[in-house]
Amino acid sequence: MADKTIFQKIGDGDIPVKMEYQDELCFCIRDINPQAPLHLLVIPRRLIARLDSAVEADEALLGHLLLVGRKVALGLGFEDGFRIVINNGPMAGETVPHLHVHVLAGRQMGWPPG
Ligand code: 5GP
Repeated sequence: MADKTIFQKIGDGDIPVKMEYQDELCFCIRDINPQAPLHLLVIPRRLIARLDSAVEADEALLGHLLLVGRKVALGLGFEDGFRIVINNGPMAGETVPHLHVHVLAGRQMGWPPG
């Protein structure tokens, strides 16, 4: 069996981390290296390496990740706006090969993103 990703270890409880939200499909934690006052990661429990690897059957799960990100950001009071980011592949800056949705908020965002 392949080694667990860091996010599988966190999701399985091998590495104790405060969960901002969790359900049977996904969990939400704070990024260890925050790029904004609020920087969440919403992570599916089942390993999907990256968005490229998702299939049609993952459609509902992908939508769920977005709605969870919205719910947690709003629940924490970040009503003035938030940004959702998914880095897909090395050119996009992906570093952990386990699909995750970044939710950033609490500062003015620039465009284009870096
Ligand atoms: P990526 O660059 O793949 O889009 O995002 C990976 C994110 O995971 C990075 O923002 C990085 O700071 C975060 N990260 C990596 N390892 C850990 C960890 O052990 N705990 C937490 N909370 N975040 C992590």
